[in-house]
Amino acid sequence: MGFDFAYTDEQKMVQESITRMLKRHEDKHVSWRQDIYKHHNFPDALWQAFAETGIMGSFLPEAYGGSDMGLMPLLLALETLSAHGFASVHAVVTAMDALCLLKHGSEELKQRILPKVATGEMRLGYAHTEPDAGSNVFNTATFAKREGDHYVVNGQKVFISGVDSTQKLLLVTRTTSLEDAIAQGNRTYGLTLMLVDCDSPGLEKQFLPLQGLEGIKQWAIFFENMKVPVENVVGTENGGAQIIFDSLNSERILAAGIATGMVDFLLDRSTRYARERKVFGNRAIGSYQAIAHPLAETKIEQEAARLLTYRAAWAFDKGLPPAEVGHFANLAKFKAADVAIKAADHAIETHGGYGFSEEYEVIYYWNTARLFKTAPITREMILNFISEHSLKLPRSY
Ligand SMILES: Cc1cc2nc3c(=O)[nH]c(=O)nc-3n(C[C@H](O)[C@H](O)[C@H](O)COP(=O)(O)OP(=O)(O)OC[C@H]3O[C@@H](n4cnc5c(N)ncnc54)[C@H](O)[C@@H]3O)c2cc1C
Repeated sequence: MGFDFAYTDEQKMVQESITRMLKRHEDKHVSWRQDIYKHHNFPDALWQAFAETGIMGSFLPEAYGGSDMGLMPLLLALETLSAHGFASVHAVVTAMDALCLLKHGSEELKQRILPKVATGEMRLGYAHTEPDAGSNVFNTATFAKREGDHYVVNGQKVFISGVDSTQKLLLVTRTTSLEDAIAQGNRTYGLTLMLVDCDSPGLEKQFLPLQGLEGIKQWAIFFENMKVPVENVVGTENGGAQIIFDSLNSERILAAGIATGMVDFLLDRSTRYARERKVFGNRAIGSYQAIAHPLAETKIEQEAARLLTYRAAWAFDKGLPPAEVGHFANLAKFKAADVAIKAADHAIETHGGYGFSEEYEVIYYWNTARLFKTAPITREMILNFISEHSLKLPRSY
């Protein structure tokens, strides 16, 4: 009886294979990090080497070229990658979309897309946010009107990551207006998910100079009479709301894994520097409790965030109801974001002025750590979720 907190042999193998892959390319690490954090690109060679480990198929069934191991291996792989300073948002969003397709897509769509995801050949993006619909997805105004065997889509999205570096987007649209849904007594009705090509005629993209989510660029996208075949709908017309909430759980869990992995990277950099740097006499600054204790606290909080993240992945892989998975996925993302911010702050503080020098790299992680507090879901919306759904408190909005 009791819990087993040890990594399984299979899990250790995943961590070791990512570590080995990174070791083989050690001479490229600094330039890869510069590519990710200074130029907002994810290096092709790193994506290729990551995909060659087979990890992008780990969460997919064998019928689609995967190895059917659930979400946990990808979580461990992303955590390991992040512990070496590489965060892959492409992997997170592609996995979220692929898992959504697996659960709600037609067989034809699954056959068309998932084997390419498993090999790393296809990357996917997610387009939900609009100028007036971020935290509140029900405000989505992008409208898809059915005309025979296709939809005609008009509207716009903002802050969409990777429109230039992914092939397809999972797009959130309305097929019934919010007013009509409210008139029918169900405001959650009327959202529809569809898969669209990033180079579809009728889709225009405009670069947004955003900081935060590195290794990937953000775009505003505009749809003018963009045609989407009916067979590209994921789930049912008008029934997208539940699918969205269900799918976002995997994104939160993987984002939490990247954040806790990033803490490893920052603690490693901080402790190395603190052991070597001497300011007054022959004492390393790591012997000062003012430097050591914040790092020790960060380590404690990272372990807590990691346990929450693993528990959320366990709940996801056990197939627990989405609301139950959502509870743990939200706790994990919340805690992991907080500790990533602390780790970045303490890393900069430990390095003094050198904390701002690109040579020491820790400053790269400041924006990304802070972003985790806001996206993929804001801290406030997580607190709302926990208040309402876990604590059964009345909703204020
Ligand atoms: C770098 C980056 C990359 C992104 N990539 C993508 C992407 O690929 N695809 C995509 O769809 N989106 C993406 N986003 C969008 C991101 O998910 C949203 O920015 C985020 O969900 C918040 O939405 P918003 O910006 O509209 O904020 P708003 O919803 O306008 O919220 C503003 C503030 O008000 C608070 N607030 C709102 N309502 C409440 C309430 N009821 N109670 C308490 N507080 C509340 C929020 O928590 C927040 O602090 C990205 C954003 C960034 C910055």
